[in-house]
Amino acid sequence: MASVELDSLVKRFGGPEGTIVANDNIDLTIEDGEFIVIVGPSGSGKSTALRTIAGLEEPTEGRVLIGGEDVTDLPPRDRDVAMVFQNYALYPHKTVDGNMRYGLEKSSGLSGEEIDERVRQFAEMMEIEETLEKTPDQLSGGQKQRVALGRAIVQKPEAFLMDEPLSNLDAKLRLQMRTEFQRIHQELGKTTIYVTHDQEEAMTMGDRIVVMDGGEIQQIDEPADVYDRPENYFVAQFIGELTMNFAEVTVENGTVSSENFSFSFPGEGPDLADGTYLLGIRPEDVELRPDGEVSGTATVEVTEPTGSEAVVYLENEHEYTASIERESVSSVTAVETVPSSDAAAADELHWTNVSIENSTVRSDEFRFELPDEAPELVRGDYRLGVRPGDLNGDAPADRISVRFQRTDELSVKTDRTALPQVGEEVDFRIPHRKIHLFDPETEETVYYGRDKRAEPDRQVA
Ligand code: ADP
Repeated sequence: MASVELDSLVKRFGGPEGTIVANDNIDLTIEDGEFIVIVGPSGSGKSTALRTIAGLEEPTEGRVLIGGEDVTDLPPRDRDVAMVFQNYALYPHKTVDGNMRYGLEKSSGLSGEEIDERVRQFAEMMEIEETLEKTPDQLSGGQKQRVALGRAIVQKPEAFLMDEPLSNLDAKLRLQMRTEFQRIHQELGKTTIYVTHDQEEAMTMGDRIVVMDGGEIQQIDEPADVYDRPENYFVAQFIGELTMNFAEVTVENGTVSSENFSFSFPGEGPDLADGTYLLGIRPEDVELRPDGEVSGTATVEVTEPTGSEAVVYLENEHEYTASIERESVSSVTAVETVPSSDAAAADELHWTNVSIENSTVRSDEFRFELPDEAPELVRGDYRLGVRPGDLNGDAPADRISVRFQRTDELSVKTDRTALPQVGEEVDFRIPHRKIHLFDPETEETVYYGRDKRAEPDRQVA
């Protein structure tokens, strides 16, 4: 029996003062026999958590329990877990047989014959009997990973810890090995903790998925729940083969509106306070050319067939002019100064990429606050246009006029037979039952559509 538990785990790097917080108070209970996938972007703390379970890292705070026993102070060899790494970590001068039996000879206490039998049994299970006399440099990448897994399972550990084991393999082999890992897991029924940055791997392999970001667990759930009911913006945008669409919206009296679309909840609608939210909708949930109710219209920019389906990218362009204090934008280094005598150049808009969040305009080089009376510039990426003549004119005014341009994109997954033409204006519908709404400040989910799956109804609003 080997459940694995992380109890208030904290891991800081960089000495006692440690400023790098790799794991920030992690609580996680993995049931005996479960296949759990820890997924998150690079640097989110996945490997550190795994290495701490293995005993390769010492926690700064908190405890590790395996099979209910506190193993925090035990060395790796006394934890009865086996690790499988991305780079295989095979002994290069030993044969496959030698690699498989090395751990057993060192610490299992089994007789030579018993070891022979065990190696043969698991080599067969991993389909590497033919390679037993070869050395790792004579093996393909896929074979090396089979040997690495074989070397782990031959020890019959209570739990397997796997750190991106398939990352070095090509796409096709990765798919094959995924199935293989699941088969082995079903056969052995041992607790498996599998770390990957690949959300697709997580979605297809895990009984449950642990999504991590910034050293913290964002959500623990079954794959379908993580997909249908992401608990916050991070999970919503991280999970999914195609990124979810997002738009800033206002909700007023049950009507949801943005620059590009609006729709209403039927009847009384959900119990949502009027205000600003971030709306999320998956590409497969947007309806193109709907019968009846239309939420908005946009221009087809790109169509991408993918097998039997296609992704259609719709765009809407918006432009705003805002009056900004000259001081604020005079540090826009992308704007080259031109002599004021060169009237044409002074008049031509110079563009630079910025992003806006909570009324702060930011680029790589500068940031400034939007004045209160600035038009409704929602969060997102813009191009900022400035006339150099306004910045270095002979008698510049305190305030100058700047242009903000934004392109809103909406991706729609659709049937390939119903593909619209590039350049065509098409109607679309955003079904209220498929949306997610996030609090723009906390980024927590405050509402999600209900009918992704019939049950259970866990609407949070
Ligand atoms: P992931 O596996 O999700 O890519 P890691 O657990 O490897 O993330 O790393 C989490 C954070 O801890 C990162 O910021 C990383 O740079 C840092 N880190 C990991 N190992 C060490 C180490 N030995 N020394 C200093 N910082 C480290």
